[in-house]
Amino acid sequence: MPDRVYMDNAATTALDPLVLDAMMPYLTSYYGNPSSIYSYGRESRLAIENARKSVAKILNANPAEIFFTSGGTESSNTALTAAVRDLGCKHIISSEIEHHATLHTAQYLKQAEEVRVSYVKILPDGDIDIHHLEQLLKESREKPLVTLMHANNETGNMTDLYKTGELCKKFGAIFHSDTVQTVGHFPFDLRKTPVDFITGSGHKFHGPKGSGILYINENIKINPFLHGGSQERNMRAGTENLYGIVGFAKALEMAAANYEADSAYIRSIKLYMMQQLQQNIEGVSFNGNPCGMSLYTVLSVNFPKTDKSEMILFNMDINNICTSGGSACSSGADTGSHVMRAINNNPDQVTVRFSFSKFNTKKEADIVIEKLKDMI
Ligand code: PLP
Repeated sequence: MPDRVYMDNAATTALDPLVLDAMMPYLTSYYGNPSSIYSYGRESRLAIENARKSVAKILNANPAEIFFTSGGTESSNTALTAAVRDLGCKHIISSEIEHHATLHTAQYLKQAEEVRVSYVKILPDGDIDIHHLEQLLKESREKPLVTLMHANNETGNMTDLYKTGELCKKFGAIFHSDTVQTVGHFPFDLRKTPVDFITGSGHKFHGPKGSGILYINENIKINPFLHGGSQERNMRAGTENLYGIVGFAKALEMAAANYEADSAYIRSIKLYMMQQLQQNIEGVSFNGNPCGMSLYTVLSVNFPKTDKSEMILFNMDINNICTSGGSACSSGADTGSHVMRAINNNPDQVTVRFSFSKFNTKKEADIVIEKLKDMI
């Protein structure tokens, strides 16, 4: 395999070898179905329940509030659908910069369940306009569901969960937050956070793909999204992704144990990259609030548009640099980023999202900068 520089960690991360070690016995020796009553099944069940306890402890939640799912998409689909069908929410308040797992589900519910969907205004720096949220809540004639993400996956901008949750409480709204970019990257204290649903995805913090959680506050009672078996206390039918669940818990344990050191290290790479870009590439600018309330893993960069820079993602790929595009509109088949269209619809810029992990180095940043000089 060629030497790659992987700077697309908001898309997915490399599985940590220690996570793989923890998963391995459940990919090999322990293959009993967790629903089977004999010892082989009971051992698998124990692994799941231990994982649940561990995840709950880290997030400061009750184990009964943690449900294992296939990832962020399933978790958000479950939460939004349940809020409408079971909790009486007839007005979804969201934003245009949410992940499609939220936006498309809200649009589906609008048609299927005849709910109203409103969008909170976005400020020029990519933050949610909290005053507009308050106005929408105040004016809502139906019970609202507020669904706003914790950290935006394209800009890194973060929303204050506490403040937003308190506002929701004041107006009797259900609050769901897509926390896929922050679970495993941010210290949660769910007992003190006024939120009804949050979501997590293992592959965003060096766990396995296809593993996730949905946190459902214990005061909320909903019906299952998937029907069938009685797994996950009747809330999520289907034989459990045993090794995925074990891997999710191990990855979260490692993330929590190393949070201080890892977050400081990753932030230093992001800041170094920013500095080097400013020093070496003329006309570069950044989206969002990269030095403010922003996730330390994400850096959204605008380059001046030229014939050459339009090909930047293609050229980076040729040079074995993995990053994501984020321009408002690219050419041809690509419809561009809905997030960039909402916050920075500048046709004279080409946007690239760099996103970092504990496995990146400053040396890699240097390599990318050197290559970029030829691509702009
Ligand atoms: N929400 C956000 C903010 C994401 O970045 C992603 C993944 O790209 C998802 C939801 C979907 O998560 P998953 O891939 O686990 O379904």
